[in-house]
Amino acid sequence: MRNALGLLLATVVAALAITGVWYWVSKPNAAKAAAQSAAAKPSDLPPPAPAKVAAKGAKDDVEYTGTVPAKPAASAAAAPVQPKSTCANPDALGISRTVVVDTTGGPGFGLDHFKQFDFLADREVVLTFDDGPWPVNTPAVLKALADECTTGIFFTIGKHATYHPEILRQVQAAGHVVGVHTWSHVNLNGKKMTDETAKEELEKGFSAVKFALGNNPAPFFRFPQLQHRPSAVAYLGSRNVAMFSCDVDSFDFRSKDADQVVNTVMTGLDKKGKGIILMHDFQKNTALALPTLLRRLKAGGYKVVAMKPKGTLDTLPQYDAMVGQDPKLPTTMTNARPISSVIQTVQQ
Ligand SMILES: [Zn+2]
Repeated sequence: MRNALGLLLATVVAALAITGVWYWVSKPNAAKAAAQSAAAKPSDLPPPAPAKVAAKGAKDDVEYTGTVPAKPAASAAAAPVQPKSTCANPDALGISRTVVVDTTGGPGFGLDHFKQFDFLADREVVLTFDDGPWPVNTPAVLKALADECTTGIFFTIGKHATYHPEILRQVQAAGHVVGVHTWSHVNLNGKKMTDETAKEELEKGFSAVKFALGNNPAPFFRFPQLQHRPSAVAYLGSRNVAMFSCDVDSFDFRSKDADQVVNTVMTGLDKKGKGIILMHDFQKNTALALPTLLRRLKAGGYKVVAMKPKGTLDTLPQYDAMVGQDPKLPTTMTNARPISSVIQTVQQ
């Protein structure tokens, strides 16, 4: 009996040994073959296409990324989801092309004030929204843009970002670019404004957006009331922040209703043929007008260009600290953690 048991054990050990040998012989080869196959993949892809030159007046600061290969490699799965690929609306306005902006030196866009970079072709528009984030109106703007699978740039007031960080996070999560519009929306050309105070308005604005989002903002900026303080323009240039004026102003802040917003924008576009459109997600009439306006843009043959920054802006620690220490603001802790992890009922 003992011999029989020993024989059985020996047989089992031998079988395991054979299986193990087979595994170590075959598995590494399989793994090696897989690795070779994966390594071969990139060379199968077409080489990166050269940057396209824009039809009109493009400069080196703007790169055109419409040449991304149609079939991205499997490893690109972690890349941000493009609204285009998830669009459920076959007749959506969409995004016609995406441009990446190298903000080195602080280029200016919007021909009302900055004439140097006339990069838009006929019927191309850029959608921009100022003064948010704000309850009701900003989410309504986000919904209208999502329904049309299109995108814009949001120039955020720093204080508003600290009041409603959750809304600003929705803006970013929806794939829009979050730029900055000062800390408190003061006129930087005002008589009492000093260079130091103006710098604080800029930097606290950027720090507030970082406070709200938890990541650095886009190096995109718009001056309140389009008042371009020369020293602030120079300072933003030194910080490598792009500045945005506009081509078509919606004047939505003084429009009596949504129809007037639509008509002002369409009239301005018919006159100029293209351009950066200035609107306010803060304004109720723009929130109400946007579904109709986007339909009118589509019907009029206008195409939306998405402008993305090449990098982000590193905020300055002393201004980050100023935003975090404002006693009227919520603390970063409550923004980052669920209520139940901060405060719990222990006795009733
Ligand atoms: Zn504004």
